[in-house]
Amino acid sequence: MVGICLSLLNIKDMKTKICPKCDTDKPLTEYYKAKARKNGHDIYCKICQQKSTKIQYRLLREEAFKFYSKLEQPECINCGEPVNELLVLDHIEGGGRQDRAVRGSGFNFYRALKRDGWPEGFQVMCYNCNNLKHTHPQHLKRIGENKRFEREYIKTIKVEYGKYPELGTW
Ligand SMILES: [Zn+2]
Ligand SMILES: [Zn+2]
Repeated sequence: MVGICLSLLNIKDMKTKICPKCDTDKPLTEYYKAKARKNGHDIYCKICQQKSTKIQYRLLREEAFKFYSKLEQPECINCGEPVNELLVLDHIEGGGRQDRAVRGSGFNFYRALKRDGWPEGFQVMCYNCNNLKHTHPQHLKRIGENKRFEREYIKTIKVEYGKYPELGTW
């Protein structure tokens, strides 16, 4: 009996299936295990699964930032930093560590927030301001205002420069 089971397992390992996303016939080892599925494996291969998880994560993160910043182009609430990769979701009243222990981190964290109907208590901040908030809260506002001023100033200069094409791009 044991022998039969083992040989069955071996046959199973040799099996391949076509991933409908990349349209490639791949061995089952190239698929994540999924107990709920009929053949015990995901529909899509590991690579396609990873790609779609990454995209889902990016979209979900964007959705969260838009919601909490109330802006189409999310930015740091303190200094106006708009670069998406530099933004984080800040727990306004602190307690981030405990919350992450409950909601998880990364993809799971954002998924839990959405599931909970985007609860209050979060704001969009850049890494720098978020660090400052913890290390030098007394300087947070001033540095944020300076950065905002700097950003606006650079924007104005760029517009002014644009009026004189002979100067080239700034
Ligand atoms: Zn695939
Ligand atoms: Zn900032």
